[in-house]
Amino acid sequence: MALIVQKFGGTSVANAERIFNVANRVVETYDQDNDVVVVVSAQGDTTDELIEKAKEINPRASKREMDVLLSTGEQQSMALLAMAIEKIGRPVVSLSAWQVGLMTDSNYSNSRIKRIVGNRIQAELDKHKIVVMAGFQGINKFDDVTTLGRGGSDTSAVAVASALGADLCQIYTDVRGVFTADPRIVPDAVQLNDISYDEMLELASLGANVLHNRSVEMAKKYNINLEVLSSLEKAPGTIVKEANSVEKMLVRGVARDNDIARISLVGVEDTPGKAFQIFAHLAKKKVNVDVILQSIGRDGKKDISFTVPSSQLEATRKTLDENSGMIGAEHIDINENVSKVSIVGAGMASNPGVAATMFEALYDAGININMISTSEIKVSVLIDKPYAEDAVRAIHAKFHLDAKRD
Ligand code: ASP
Ligand code: MG
Repeated sequence: MALIVQKFGGTSVANAERIFNVANRVVETYDQDNDVVVVVSAQGDTTDELIEKAKEINPRASKREMDVLLSTGEQQSMALLAMAIEKIGRPVVSLSAWQVGLMTDSNYSNSRIKRIVGNRIQAELDKHKIVVMAGFQGINKFDDVTTLGRGGSDTSAVAVASALGADLCQIYTDVRGVFTADPRIVPDAVQLNDISYDEMLELASLGANVLHNRSVEMAKKYNINLEVLSSLEKAPGTIVKEANSVEKMLVRGVARDNDIARISLVGVEDTPGKAFQIFAHLAKKKVNVDVILQSIGRDGKKDISFTVPSSQLEATRKTLDENSGMIGAEHIDINENVSKVSIVGAGMASNPGVAATMFEALYDAGININMISTSEIKVSVLIDKPYAEDAVRAIHAKFHLDAKRD
């Protein structure tokens, strides 16, 4: 007997038929003598629809009220799934974040989980009930409802798995697992059997869109084995786990991120402390700056370029405006027509040739590189958006990622 946390995303519970499909999966696990805690997301596009509804009323609604509204999506799902399990005839109870005691900080719309208080879930499991809980939502110290940021239900699942000491945390989604590239771009992309937390973190933040970033961070911190798998097909998924038990491939995957913008501050005064001041102001506004490039000074001036997620472009613009006196740039250029394409692999740390091979693939495909950044386990390039998919395909082929796997 094991304790298993199963999380089902929005597409997996999109309609009545899918909810029964999920209910059957859950019951199957329960009938194999396991304790099961299920975490659900809002059905289909519910969260987006709720956001649209709010906009009709007040496009500048407070984040607190947005959280009250958005949390209802998950609440619907948990009740509907519990009803389906009741109908199949197994004992079940649905619980909101409030009932579970899932406490977060007060950063509305993007809260972090602090801890789970009380033992309501365990008490229900002790009664041999299947527990269905709402993902994405939490409660702060003011007893207000919070949400964890888009895609946050994955993180709810990992938090619960960690609090309960679960044996496995399964993330059911609409894909079979983690692939060497997005199969919609690269048809011969191959599914990975396993991947390390660090590689997955890079892929998640690089736009692979399989798991919520913070869920992987938390799984790594508490050493929770995650399995990403399909709710629609019965097939083994991809296990995300500790690096030492993972095959160290040079390159594990190629990711593309279209949701970024490049900012160039042209003709900034070339004095010590400029970069510090600019990026400190952006950090204060919680802007996530990624690739940074500074030109060599000439005539007492230099250029500083960097990328930010599209979602933070407005905040970036505002911060730069407010500090335009200090920055003193001759001119600021914002380019949203860019993509970041990256390779990730724990084995590249000690292999200097990897970046060159990637650049060669781009050269062969006639694709120009705007910016480059590297870390121990990844190389990213910024290129013009129209070439992003070609770039992914070219790099995937160059590293023979289609052939090497089973
Ligand atoms: N329903 C929320 C969203 O769409 C949370 C989630 O799906 O994980 O972002
Ligand atoms: Mg969702």
